[in-house]
Amino acid sequence: MNVTELYRELKMTKSEFFETLREIGTFDLGERAIKIDDAVAVKIIEAIKKKRKEDNKTSLFAAEKKIEKDVEKSTEGEALKLPDKLTVKDFADRMGKRAADMIAILMQNGIMATINETLDYETAAIIAEDMGYIPELSLDGENIDDPESRSQEIADTLAAESKESLKDRAPVIVIMGHVDHGKTTLLDTIRDANVTASESGGITQHIGAYQVVHKDNPITFIDTPGHEAFTTMRSRGARVADIAVLVVAADDGIKPQTEEAIHIIEEAKIPFVVAINKIDKPEADVDRVKKELSEFNLIPEDYGGKVITAPISAKQGTGIEDLLDMLLLVAEVDKENIVANPDGDMVGSIVESHMDKHMGPVATVLVQNGTLHIGEIIQIGNVSGRVRSLKDWTGAEIKEAGPSVPVQVLGLKGAPIVGDIMKVVKDKKVLKQNMKEYSSFAIMQSKAVEDEESKKKLHVILRADKLGSLEAIVQSLQGVKHDEVGIDIIQKGLGSVTENDISLAASSGAIVLGFHVGSTVGAEKFAKDENVDMGMFQVIYELIDYAKDGLEKLLSTEVNFVKVGSLKILASFKAEQTFQIVGGRVEYGEMRSNTPVKIVRDGRMIGEGTMSGLQKDKKKVSSVGKGSECGMRIDTETTIEVDDIIESYQTEERVRTLSE
Ligand code: GDP
Repeated sequence: MNVTELYRELKMTKSEFFETLREIGTFDLGERAIKIDDAVAVKIIEAIKKKRKEDNKTSLFAAEKKIEKDVEKSTEGEALKLPDKLTVKDFADRMGKRAADMIAILMQNGIMATINETLDYETAAIIAEDMGYIPELSLDGENIDDPESRSQEIADTLAAESKESLKDRAPVIVIMGHVDHGKTTLLDTIRDANVTASESGGITQHIGAYQVVHKDNPITFIDTPGHEAFTTMRSRGARVADIAVLVVAADDGIKPQTEEAIHIIEEAKIPFVVAINKIDKPEADVDRVKKELSEFNLIPEDYGGKVITAPISAKQGTGIEDLLDMLLLVAEVDKENIVANPDGDMVGSIVESHMDKHMGPVATVLVQNGTLHIGEIIQIGNVSGRVRSLKDWTGAEIKEAGPSVPVQVLGLKGAPIVGDIMKVVKDKKVLKQNMKEYSSFAIMQSKAVEDEESKKKLHVILRADKLGSLEAIVQSLQGVKHDEVGIDIIQKGLGSVTENDISLAASSGAIVLGFHVGSTVGAEKFAKDENVDMGMFQVIYELIDYAKDGLEKLLSTEVNFVKVGSLKILASFKAEQTFQIVGGRVEYGEMRSNTPVKIVRDGRMIGEGTMSGLQKDKKKVSSVGKGSECGMRIDTETTIEVDDIIESYQTEERVRTLSE
């Protein structure tokens, strides 16, 4: 048998093979050997396998020992049971500290809390651990919800209602689609034809949502087009919309944002209707849109599929009645999900929010369960208030709003965030408790983001041709991790790089990355004028590398000190507080002026300074070589004595890389 064959079979390199044989010691095989007897080969294989097993055992043994040690170490501290929420005072008592000391300890950890404020388990556990305890969550205490789980609140509130108390409510519709395909026009046309402006208001109000009555059935429309708003709402709350309308222009077909909308609708798992718009246009081609839909596996009914399509002209009002009919039909099918208890606990989602110069914070809430009344105390995260007035989408003052009714609320102390959940609280005491819980949660959250925020950021604006690629790139970019720097995608979207992107990049110092997309002519010129770093790519990893390079530039350079020479002090001529004039002989390398120096006595560094002047034979020089004597001025506060060694250093900057 060939020796090469043998060590290949054992999955070893030549040197590993011979090294192991030497360790075993029983085989006399020179490294030059080419062929060996088959019987010997078998013995070698057996011996090596046996040795491997033994090696494994010893390393396993070592690993076990280590684990044992770790366990020992971790049980050194005293176990401490903590509830999932406790006051600072309670925490101090448990830790045997005075409350004032505990407040100080918390402060050192960046937590500003007063004696009666609530801490959550995670925060308390970190502090307890620092103090040598082994914290453990005690589950006997009551479990109080945190705002994170409040996003579940609507689903939970509904789930808590008894089946008999649930009543039908108006379906809530969201309109999505590519820019300029007619979403706003459609929303306006439906509103104008179906909302009768109240006598008091005279004109309808844009409050973020409205309700129409079609054939005696109310239908609610969310009036904030743009996928962002919908996705934020969805990510923060339960399902806001029951049915989606996907608008596709018949003269343009499926475009990147249409694709994005399809994706969002599928994710939200809500039924939808496709409105094929602009059929009044001569170049409109409804069939082409249907074919394109089929390519996305959305097969229209007349093509043998299940997708409902409605040809419309939002501009001329054609087909709108049919579209509304279809929405009612879809709602009928999904009837058992479109319910709420008007007499239950009130919860709803914020669909619009702003600060009005005269009226203060103004928010629109879409009631999703219960009924909101004037005078009630309300809470939205850390924002609270008492309902001073309620206005509907016609501008009419109303006294209450039930399920699926969007209503503008006055009386809040601050402007809430779109997508947040509003709820009615029983009294001020409950509100106070809720707010406390919220603030301790906020403290915990801000602690977590602090680390991330303190990093230097490479801001990125990202554009891609397809949602799939966009998501893949976002994921890859987010996967680039480093302790000191990070990537922050401040804007992303489908389609060409626009002037808006460049303007945002210029104002925020971001770089613009494009994948399989072009840029508008204006954008390119604008980027040049504004000196915006713009990179366009056809290959994902090249784009990622480009971003990594940008990130690397944010890493501070490493400064290394390289010793260039040393000198022995022979005399000291003048010693001042901040500098000293000395003389000496170069023993190694050379002395250079204007370099950092170290002062060494008996082999130990005793001080640092700067060589600010160098003279040889009474002449100013920039360097003095080995064996020469010279005079120096050294800026230092350390007193230099005869026989001290002065080491001269050169600084070298080294660019660091992400992978170090
Ligand atoms: P959005 O960006 O999707 O909200 O689109 P808009 O509603 O702002 O519409 C974009 C453009 O298309 C506007 O100039 C509208 O007047 C026009 N438009 C919308 N619907 C129709 C339609 O049914 N027919 C025609 N011819 N134009 C329409």
